[in-house]
Amino acid sequence: MKKTLVIGAGIGGLALAIRLQAAGVPVLLLEARDKPGGRAYVYEDQGFTFDAGPTVITDPSAIEELFTLAGRRTADFIDMLPVKPFYRLCWESGEVMDYDNDQQQLEEAIARFNPDDVEGYRRFHAYSREVFKEGYLKLGSVPFLSVGDMVKVSPQLIRLQAWRSVYSMVSKFIKNEHLRQAFSFHSLLVGGNPFAASSIYTLIHALEREWGVWFARGGTGAMIQGLTRLFCELGGQLELNTPVKKLETEGDHITAAITADGRRIEVAAVASNADVVQTYAKLLGHHPHGAAQAAALKKKSMSNSLFVIYFGLNNPHSQLAHHTVCFGPRYKELIEEIFHHDKLADDFSLYLHSPCVTDPSLAPPGCGSFYVLAPVPNLGTANLDWDVEGPRLRDRIFAYLEEHYMPGLREQLVTQRIFTPFDFRDQLDAHLGSAFSVEPLLTQSAWFRPHNRDSKIDNLYVVGAGTHPGAGIPGVIASAKVTASLMLEDRAR
Ligand SMILES: Cc1cc2nc3c(=O)[nH]c(=O)nc-3n(C[C@H](O)[C@H](O)[C@H](O)COP(=O)(O)OP(=O)(O)OC[C@H]3O[C@@H](n4cnc5c(N)ncnc54)[C@H](O)[C@@H]3O)c2cc1C
Repeated sequence: MKKTLVIGAGIGGLALAIRLQAAGVPVLLLEARDKPGGRAYVYEDQGFTFDAGPTVITDPSAIEELFTLAGRRTADFIDMLPVKPFYRLCWESGEVMDYDNDQQQLEEAIARFNPDDVEGYRRFHAYSREVFKEGYLKLGSVPFLSVGDMVKVSPQLIRLQAWRSVYSMVSKFIKNEHLRQAFSFHSLLVGGNPFAASSIYTLIHALEREWGVWFARGGTGAMIQGLTRLFCELGGQLELNTPVKKLETEGDHITAAITADGRRIEVAAVASNADVVQTYAKLLGHHPHGAAQAAALKKKSMSNSLFVIYFGLNNPHSQLAHHTVCFGPRYKELIEEIFHHDKLADDFSLYLHSPCVTDPSLAPPGCGSFYVLAPVPNLGTANLDWDVEGPRLRDRIFAYLEEHYMPGLREQLVTQRIFTPFDFRDQLDAHLGSAFSVEPLLTQSAWFRPHNRDSKIDNLYVVGAGTHPGAGIPGVIASAKVTASLMLEDRAR
């Protein structure tokens, strides 16, 4: 029998494969790498476990829905632990803000920066809740396939002033510069420049306030294992180390997938969780529509990349919070350089992950596993030689962390590895080494984003960060919901 094929076992690919399999559609899931997870890959070394990518889990209900529709209990697969504070935000001035969803504590923290901003924050929160209801609860899982779909939501977008940027909207309510940073950096978590991404992305704040921030016991990798086990228990077939090289077509219909080892697999339908640009450019570049789509997508603006260091120390650094955002000396100017300049900035802002605060089992006793990331330009913005820049940036970041946050770091190193824009390009086949795919601008969102169902090739679908609604765990799980609904609708015809 011809297969329904999902290419790529990122979170979006896994979520789609589970939805289809739970609906009774036999799925073959082909993954290029040796483990599922995509950006949520896991490295293990000398007793240390490092989640490679996502660490902040918001909207656990989206994950739970996958288990419920398969008739299973999430708790039998994943143990979700609450994280408090959600983040510790630190500035070079020595100011610190622990941020979570306790209203009173949050208001006290805001008042320490500027008492007048407490009232403004309340209004900002009310605004972000409204955007969350419209943008996430109502529209996040709805397909945008025609101009009409976009026109229908225009009144809401106008009412919510979606043309304004995240930072501009936050600034309308909040005056203190550090608080403006505290409530606008979130769009960076999905590859959005706070000075350019639509104010719709302020919904992330309401999302965190509504459902909290979570971490899976054993790390995000344990969540991936839970999702993979669910897919396999439902009868799904997963093949690792199996890159798809080409999709064969007859007219505007895909007939077969060709794998790197030369196998030809006949397919009924294909959903690609591979990079959306490469899906059209490499897998379908021989088809006129594939080539045209690839050319159009290459004109879109791609999100920034990331530079990540995974490191294990013989010191747990228990003084740290689970998630720390280390704001550098500049905010707007630094972000401008990350998104638009062709060289690496002299300074950086960092996100530091210290998961042993929540789950000590991720490192040997008395040790700590960590990762630190810096947003950096993608390879289209700055064509840097990361084989040279990577080790240099690592040394600068280690020296900075040692001075400001983790005394003695370099002497305590047991293991370390770096991941650069070259790795996003080479290991994940990400166009321009982008960490989050198509940049979340208003002009590249909803209908303007690559559609979940292709407009011409009648059995092609895409899922994941590059399609609607976008990057981040809740985003790609929602994209799987949209794509699954379209695939099931088409099968029922
Ligand atoms: C360092 C980092 C930190 C992040 N932190 C967070 C966070 O804390 N919270 C959050 O919500 N989000 C976070 N994100 C974003 C989030 O991880 C991603 O948006 C999301 O995981 C992307 O999922 P995806 O479904 O698009 O698939 P991807 O993760 O992009 O996976 C795609 C898969 O397809 C495979 N593939 C590609 N080409 C082929 C082919 N030809 N044949 C077969 N397989 C192929 C790849 O190997 C890969 O496994 C982070 C991202 C990064 C990089």
